[in-house]
Amino acid sequence: MTAELGQCTVVVPTIGRPSLDVLLEALAVATGPRPAELVLADDRPTGAPLVPDRPGLPPVRVVRTGGGGPARARNLGWRTARTEWIAFLDDDVVPDPDWYERLAADLAALPADAAGSQGRVRVPLPADRRPTDWERGTAGLATSSWITADLTYRRAALAAVGGFDERFPRAFREDSDLALRVMGTGARLTRGQRSIAHPVRPVDRWVSVRVQAGNADDVLMRRLHGPTWRERADAAVGRRPRHLAVTAAAVAAVGLAAARRPRAAALAALAWTAGTAEFAWARIAPGPRTGDEVATMALTSAAIPPLATWHFLRGAVAHRQVPAWRGLPDLVLFDRDGTLVHDVPYNGDPDLVRPVDGARAALAALRARGVRIGLITNQSGIGRGLLTRAQVDAVNARVAELLGPFDTVQLCPHAPGDGCDCRKPAPGMVKAACAGLGVDPARCVAIGDIAADLGAAQAAGAVGILVPTLVTRPEEVTAARHRAATLREAVDGVLAGEW
Ligand SMILES: [Mg+2]
Repeated sequence: MTAELGQCTVVVPTIGRPSLDVLLEALAVATGPRPAELVLADDRPTGAPLVPDRPGLPPVRVVRTGGGGPARARNLGWRTARTEWIAFLDDDVVPDPDWYERLAADLAALPADAAGSQGRVRVPLPADRRPTDWERGTAGLATSSWITADLTYRRAALAAVGGFDERFPRAFREDSDLALRVMGTGARLTRGQRSIAHPVRPVDRWVSVRVQAGNADDVLMRRLHGPTWRERADAAVGRRPRHLAVTAAAVAAVGLAAARRPRAAALAALAWTAGTAEFAWARIAPGPRTGDEVATMALTSAAIPPLATWHFLRGAVAHRQVPAWRGLPDLVLFDRDGTLVHDVPYNGDPDLVRPVDGARAALAALRARGVRIGLITNQSGIGRGLLTRAQVDAVNARVAELLGPFDTVQLCPHAPGDGCDCRKPAPGMVKAACAGLGVDPARCVAIGDIAADLGAAQAAGAVGILVPTLVTRPEEVTAARHRAATLREAVDGVLAGEW
């Protein structure tokens, strides 16, 4: 069973809250085999680096997103991992002492058509009193489906769907969305035997008001997955229909009063009062009924219906049109001459290498998001006897020095008449780069300055983007399905999911 964990990376998105220490301690003292790596995806925009090292942990690596929410943090975590399995844990959970052993067993038992395994979640509640509204809400996690508090996916399943949809800005629905897209590929998700405790986070009295922002995310879910998404994601509809009705009654009361129709206004106000009182009682009755809890429920029960309505309408406007999530490609291949560096025909002199404007920053932007980068270059100068292989290698070394490192470098030394399958527009180099890195060509982008670059991409099943130069023929520009004015623009488009 140890073999499974050797092929597993644990990814924890974190904003450095105190609960992270509790998680790390639990992972350090737990028994059993260790996974290959523990990746902490630090999602704080600023702050001192995390220092997570403590005896007993797997090898730890910290990556920083600069902020962007849990979906982006998890994406950076799995993208920079190279193992077959990615085990997501939230930074506010406490794995059981046998978590590693049970995870190994869960993965070993997973059928080939299963893309992931969910852990079991336990929410400890106070034994001496009834749980508060917030505690009951958290307890719902124990019966939720496909929550990434503890969910292990095959890395290939994440890559196939572009990972988490980063348009979900908070830790809400982004995990259900991912599960629906993974299951949409025909794969299954299963429930394992390992378990974690998910303590109830201490909160102030307004938390139930703040979480109403999730109503906007529900609209996004409906746009992306259609009206039946709730059944498929095991998500209850909740009270939103009633919140809309209560809010409508309040609006009607104000409007009717302004229109000098006092009797009708009073009726509408009565409906609002009754609806609000019913909502407050529904939250107070099962709880501890302390003065503090009753006051919190009374105050927030008046605020929640209009806020839920507001966020619902806000979502309906913001998410009028949403394309399917594409995510980032797993590999971006660059042509060398005329794309990354200025073209010097049959160049054998490293001193003549000059990167195009913005190349360095564009490559850095891709690396910062965990996208792998490669170089693919036709060097027929070798086949034509104009250049030696050593000269070309020296030039490539200079390119790597200025712009690297590259995850793969592919070179075709043949002349046009040699009948090789690597010289672009043949697909050999794109295929070899993908195969060498274990990347599906459909998740690969190739950027170049002539039609041969796009031809190679297309023939390999990848996506080609043309960045024309002065020597690019006009008909090549018109024929290109994807093109950009500059290298930076091409890369920015890729980072925005337009590829
Ligand atoms: Mg070129």
